[in-house]
Amino acid sequence: PFEVLVIGGGPAGAASAVYTARKGFRTGIAAERFGGQLQDTLGIENLPGTSYTEGPKLSDNLKKQTLENEIDLMDLARATQLKPASEAGGMHEITFANGAVMKSRSLILSTGARWRNLGVPGEAEYRNKGVAYCPHCDGPLFKGKRIAVIGGGNSGVEAAIDLAKIVGHVTLIEFDNKLRADEVLQRKLRSMPNVEIVTNGQTTEITGDGSRTNGLVLKDRESGEERAIELEGVFVQIGLVPNTEWLADSGLELSKHGEIVVDQHGATSLPGIYAAGDATIVPDKQIVVAMGTGATAGLGAFDYLIRNEPV
Ligand code: FAD
Repeated sequence: PFEVLVIGGGPAGAASAVYTARKGFRTGIAAERFGGQLQDTLGIENLPGTSYTEGPKLSDNLKKQTLENEIDLMDLARATQLKPASEAGGMHEITFANGAVMKSRSLILSTGARWRNLGVPGEAEYRNKGVAYCPHCDGPLFKGKRIAVIGGGNSGVEAAIDLAKIVGHVTLIEFDNKLRADEVLQRKLRSMPNVEIVTNGQTTEITGDGSRTNGLVLKDRESGEERAIELEGVFVQIGLVPNTEWLADSGLELSKHGEIVVDQHGATSLPGIYAAGDATIVPDKQIVVAMGTGATAGLGAFDYLIRNEPV
């Protein structure tokens, strides 16, 4: 059994494990895919202290650091169930897809999140070749260019406001007949000269020249008419889904969006169980934040372990 078992091997999980291992606690990481979203990320330019790196490289560095700290790394391990300890200091149990069960005195849950996809032709083909999901990360790559933002909720409208300052032109496309973002954001967006807002718009295809995106096909849901829009980039902003489905019947408190509720120490609603990164209610889904909240959760678990004798 472990003293700390981390579920999820993205930047949040790796950071938390390094902290607990360095406090001398027997630490393991079980992850479906070590590196998490880093494995899908090309250039990273907003990690403080590192002007440029690439996701897979950062993931390799995290792996190297976990091994140097004698952390037990279990890759290709998908957790399917959490059974919390029945008393403080007791053992929590995690069941995995292959039937294995692991026990640990404390847990750190860092199973991350995934962007909701549009699911139209061209989206997967041109991902990272014009199709983007993170305005903070990829906005500067489209300086002076024409882009569309898909999604008229808060994240879509915020992204459009943010991007309109960098890019040449923004078309914001909302599926519904009105934007759902806060009124103040809508007003700000409408005041920007290089923004067109389309409602009742369904994106049916993202087109490209074989190597990069060159447009999309937009269908008017009222008239049924289709038109092609030429552009260089498409930001899909229709939601980020936390990987927490497996926790649904664990008794752990989740927000209405399915995010793990944590306090400022990374503590969840259950004693001895901590969480960090994109899977939690932390408002900013970024690598540096995942690492920072990972460190906090690791130190939270440390505090719990020194205050609760094993039973
Ligand atoms: P994740 O990275 O999502 O890792 C989750 C881990 O949990 C993975 O190991 C996964 O396999 C595992 N897991 C999930 N479910 C289970 C389960 N049931 N059992 C076991 N393991 C499980 N952020 C930046 O700061 N800068 C950028 O430039 C940037 N670019 C990005 C580009 C792309 C294309 C994407 C998708 C994201 C980008 N981000 C960027 C966001 C950043 O990658 C995330 O905020 C960060 O990876 C979150 O870390 P995390 O550890 O919380 O989760």
